[in-house]
Amino acid sequence: MTDDTTPLSFTVTRREDATSSERIAQVLEDPGFGKTFTDHMVVIDWDGSADGGGWSGARVQPYGPFEIEPAAAVLHYAQEIFEGMKAYRHADGSIWTFRPEANAARFARSATRLALPVLPAATFIESLRQLVTADQEWVPESGGEKALYLRPFMFASEAFLGVRPAQRVTYSVIASPAGAYFPGGLKPVTLWISTDYARAGAGGTGAAKCGGNYASSLAGQIEGAEHGCDQAVFLDSSTHTYIEELGGMNLFFVTRDGTLVTPELTGSILEGVTRSSILQLAKELDLTPEERRIPIQEWKDGAASGEIREIFACGTAAVITPVGELRWAGGSVDHRRDGHRDTYAEAIRARLLDIQYGRAEDTYGWLTRLV
Ligand SMILES: *Cc1c(COP(=O)(O)O)cnc(C)c1O
Repeated sequence: MTDDTTPLSFTVTRREDATSSERIAQVLEDPGFGKTFTDHMVVIDWDGSADGGGWSGARVQPYGPFEIEPAAAVLHYAQEIFEGMKAYRHADGSIWTFRPEANAARFARSATRLALPVLPAATFIESLRQLVTADQEWVPESGGEKALYLRPFMFASEAFLGVRPAQRVTYSVIASPAGAYFPGGLKPVTLWISTDYARAGAGGTGAAKCGGNYASSLAGQIEGAEHGCDQAVFLDSSTHTYIEELGGMNLFFVTRDGTLVTPELTGSILEGVTRSSILQLAKELDLTPEERRIPIQEWKDGAASGEIREIFACGTAAVITPVGELRWAGGSVDHRRDGHRDTYAEAIRARLLDIQYGRAEDTYGWLTRLV
């Protein structure tokens, strides 16, 4: 029997040809992002058929390929969701993660939207603890901005070409050491307004963290790159008027009068854990948080007039990225003047990192110890 507050128990099969400590140290020196994977992975199976029994077989096993049938539903109908988190090493060697209940709750919402089964939060968090315990040597040293990136995901593994929710599903967690996103200091990104392409529409899956949203954002990203931009900013798909977010990050604006504005959650914007944390931190910096619809014209006008003081994007991977120039077909605008500094972006970024790495007191109760 399972009850939702007790996690499933895991079996652990350790890899026999484990990576040497020397090789791990070499990887951790300059990990980049998402390139190298640790020795182990978590897998849990779900069977939703009448006699299937739901979640079972929770295990840590050597990292390696899945055996998956060509007819597996995920390959045809994209029933897939994921999460992105980090494990941070503190100065005393202990390893922590940031607001995992928020990621577990979002994973459950994404699952429901994609007609996938909900993995109970207790098992979600236990799966992170199990993997990080097995691969703790892969968590970079404390003191810098390196971390072990954790990628929980779930996909429809049932071999069946009819269109209905799959009855066999696989949950997994993999981990990958991640370096400082900006080794040379914060560098503002240039953004492209995607008007031909939307990443999500009303009633669609924009609020779910699913692979399909990323697939549909790529055309806009490519268009942006062709115009010399680092990333694309997507607008609401119905009126092409209101700012939504980037392909994988939420957006914030600091106005001259000290308001911290971000687009309100309209159902097509992903509810970032970093976004929600920044809204809570605003008061510490004497900023007034505000969630509302923001016309793209307000960005163009405010950047030109000086009404907008700072712009930044946020997400778990990069924490905070200052935004510089905005370009579109036939124009561009830049809110930065001579001597511009991203004072608030830097302060909020440092505050979040200090909490995550245990250098500041966890006054909001955001940290969970893994090891
Ligand atoms: C994951 C993600 C974010 C950032 O969410 P965090 O929880 O802060 O990492 C923002 N937008 C999209 C589309 C995302 O997938």
